[in-house]
Amino acid sequence: MKKMTITLGQRNYPITISSGLLNHFDSFEPLKKGDQGMLVTNQTLAPLYLSSIRTVLEQGGVRLDHIILPDGEKYKSLASIELIFSELLRKWHGRHTTLIALGGGVIGDLTGFAASCYQRGIRYIQIPTTLLAQVDASIGGKTAVNHQLGKNMIGAFYQPASVIIDIDCLSHLPMRQFSSGLAEIIKYGIAFDFNFFCWLEDNMDSLLRRDIDALSHCISRCCQIKSKIIMDDERDENGLRALLNLGHTYAHAIETETNYIFYLHGEAVSIGMLMAAQTAQKLGLFSRTDIIRIKKLLLRAKLPIQGFHQIDPKSCLLHMMHDKKVMNGKLRLIIPTAIGQSEIYEGIDNEIVLASIKETLMLSMNQ
Ligand code: NAD
Ligand code: MG
Repeated sequence: MKKMTITLGQRNYPITISSGLLNHFDSFEPLKKGDQGMLVTNQTLAPLYLSSIRTVLEQGGVRLDHIILPDGEKYKSLASIELIFSELLRKWHGRHTTLIALGGGVIGDLTGFAASCYQRGIRYIQIPTTLLAQVDASIGGKTAVNHQLGKNMIGAFYQPASVIIDIDCLSHLPMRQFSSGLAEIIKYGIAFDFNFFCWLEDNMDSLLRRDIDALSHCISRCCQIKSKIIMDDERDENGLRALLNLGHTYAHAIETETNYIFYLHGEAVSIGMLMAAQTAQKLGLFSRTDIIRIKKLLLRAKLPIQGFHQIDPKSCLLHMMHDKKVMNGKLRLIIPTAIGQSEIYEGIDNEIVLASIKETLMLSMNQ
């Protein structure tokens, strides 16, 4: 078992990583006998895990209610938050109840946001079940729902009371979702940790076989990297946390341009990271050899390195100009300066960005 603590003054919390965690009541700290809880999950996960978790928690003396939401990003909405609130009120949950998020990033973000405002803030626990949520979404306390006019537009910084990462959950995860998580994992290597990138090159086959030891090492390394950044920049204020978004400004443009239909987030991030690397190369900051090295790893992770649905480079650039990081009409982008290193660059010429988008799409297609 691997355990680490996020240290944030009054809001410290543990992250526990192992296989079989959900079978033991002790894993569900800080829940204890006599506590009340509301588990939030979706229609895909409930048949897989709800009854066994209920048994473990009830044997431990927790009074558990649950709510099962429909599955999908479109349900990351204020309407779902209302459903959670109604269920909490109907079942007489007071300020001392605990919400338990069982699911991927959608359920985690929803539950965290509901916890941040129900009766001015109650405790919640994250049980991430996708690879992406285990290495990224469940840690760091960013919670949100989508608005018709924008993704993650309504939310709060609100840290969980613990994060329980049971690697066994990944055995049910569809391959495409698994690869989407691998994109964020590779991002940690490119943006922060050369040795981890090399480890990924050596161990990609084991990860794809979902080998427990390889997954355990990989997930805990990502959690360590993200934890350190959260501890230094909890509220995304000093630029450090922004580095976690390597490739994301490009990726969001791809997702918006294709209406969030054709690409999973990690797939868009895969292409976005290559576009960022291409921009870096044009600025003389990154070598072609390293771009090829990244491409090879992404391909092995079964991720796209080219658009597989029509993407218009100029519209992508326009979407990028609407990014939160744009200042005075100038793009601010996270750019890799070597494998394992990244920086925020301001005032990059739009023509360079446009050429990088075009060339990434075209170069890949010629391969
Ligand atoms: P998701 O929650 O939609 O899960 C993907 C799919 O996998 C869903 O259909 C889900 O039901 C299914 N699934 C989940 N676990 C499964 C399992 N063990 N077995 C079988 N199927 C399973 O998507 P995601 O990729 O986990 O998360 C994406 C969301 O996370 C986005 O809304 C994004 O904005 C958010 N996010 C938040 C943060 C943050 O810091 N808060 C960071 C990254 C992403
Ligand atoms: Mg991401």
